[in-house]
Amino acid sequence: MARLVVDVPDHPTPGVVFKDITPLLADHDGFSAVTAALADLGRDAAGAFVDKVVGMEARGFILAAPVALALGTGFVPVRKPGKLPRETHEVAFSLEYGDATLQIHRDSITPGDRVLLVDDVLATGGTVAATRELVEACGGTCVGVAVLMELGFLGGRSKLGDLPVSAITTV
Ligand code: 5GP
Repeated sequence: MARLVVDVPDHPTPGVVFKDITPLLADHDGFSAVTAALADLGRDAAGAFVDKVVGMEARGFILAAPVALALGTGFVPVRKPGKLPRETHEVAFSLEYGDATLQIHRDSITPGDRVLLVDDVLATGGTVAATRELVEACGGTCVGVAVLMELGFLGGRSKLGDLPVSAITTV
């Protein structure tokens, strides 16, 4: 898998080495293996233990949607402001490179839902922490985070308390 994730120095700002996952997505075997491995993180011997899979704009959508289908659950998008057309919850937070705000449709999670968060990269953890707040504002519970790649040197996990985080690969 490592050869299919390409380091791009100084993107989107000087000093940041961006992990470009588009070569992996373009490779059927790689994409399908990664989707299957992420879906495995939402099931145990008894089957899927989550009710919804949430993906964060934009690359999270690409991974979370097939994971939801593999687990037999619905998919819920968490989006940047102004994209979701109905009533939302909103959380503002800081990123590795700048500030951001994310929104979720208030009725997209049923109170009591167990939710798996799926994204491509865990960096500082801000995106996942904000998404967890959004899910909890809807009355759901995050039971895990599944990412393709964790940037361990940024320590994102430490922002997430007891939320179990699984990464297919860590750099
Ligand atoms: P965090 O909030 O953990 O700092 O950043 C994670 C979010 O930013 C994820 O939604 C992810 O898509 C994006 N991100 C941050 N760094 C990278 C990177 O190097 N490569 C990719 N593909 N996404 C990144």
